[in-house]
Amino acid sequence: MRHSGPMSDHFDGEKFFNPGHRSHKSFLDVLKWKLTETSVPWPEEISLTSAPWENKKVSPGKVRVTYVNHASILIQSSTQTILTDPVYSKRVSPLSWAGPKRRKLPGIPFENLPPIDVVLISHNHYDHMDKETLRRLQERGNPLVLAPLGDCRVLEDISGLRCEELDWWQKRAVDEVQIEFCPAQHWSARGMFDRNESLWGSYALQVEGKTIYFAGDTGFGNHFEAIAKRYPQVDLALLPIGAYAPRWFMKDHHLNPEEAVKAHQVLGAKKSLGIHFGTFKLTDEAYEEPAQRLSEELERLKISKEEFLAKDNGFDLWLE
Ligand code: ZN
Ligand code: ZN
Repeated sequence: MRHSGPMSDHFDGEKFFNPGHRSHKSFLDVLKWKLTETSVPWPEEISLTSAPWENKKVSPGKVRVTYVNHASILIQSSTQTILTDPVYSKRVSPLSWAGPKRRKLPGIPFENLPPIDVVLISHNHYDHMDKETLRRLQERGNPLVLAPLGDCRVLEDISGLRCEELDWWQKRAVDEVQIEFCPAQHWSARGMFDRNESLWGSYALQVEGKTIYFAGDTGFGNHFEAIAKRYPQVDLALLPIGAYAPRWFMKDHHLNPEEAVKAHQVLGAKKSLGIHFGTFKLTDEAYEEPAQRLSEELERLKISKEEFLAKDNGFDLWLE
């Protein structure tokens, strides 16, 4: 069952698309990638280097941001706890026995997560919309789930789940947190026959006077400029730096570290945190490569390494 709604500059009545950037990788392209791939193997199991995470009281005026794993980020204010694209499963795949396997534990064990008020879903790929994790979160505290147009129906079988859909530039306030669903240059699919039947995107949050931008999955596009115009002061940008090789296949829909730095600059972000690397091997690049290339690019551009961090699962920072 497809999304039904009015046509827009990113919905043609049947499918969603990236305005000004219609690209489509076919099954043959996937085959070409798999036949020509020069994938660098990752270690099977990678241990965490960060200190065990502890829940701490967040006082008014402050925001604590923790990189849980992949695109799962925990954002805590004194009144609200938000979790983006929560993924706790062992594999990010429609199958429990095949597909990309977890190489590293989440930085916060599931049972140690504080009660979650809001879950933000960027799009329906398995490494972002993990139904098993959403089911566990529902059972544990029934958070409000905000998802792109077309995705709540995919989550319908999670009994009791409170799911609300958002279109690009649609706002939703939760308590004192202002949430706006913003564009991204990406695509969607859960199976072989539902390509682009639901939307994808990013989120801008205003919490405790701070602006946090969560980019979801995206290629480099002019949406960053549009977002920068609306949010002239981004205090923290959460930008993907992994899952980019080979470029001919990935470039349309995934930033590489150099493009992530460009996005950081276009957004005028005070600080950025690299996400979407190091936990699941989705593409060809080596485990160490995203952080290394990020660091080289920052050096080349004489940007302080404190301005764009790439840290291990469980790393946290405070905005105050
Ligand atoms: Zn994706
Ligand atoms: Zn992804």
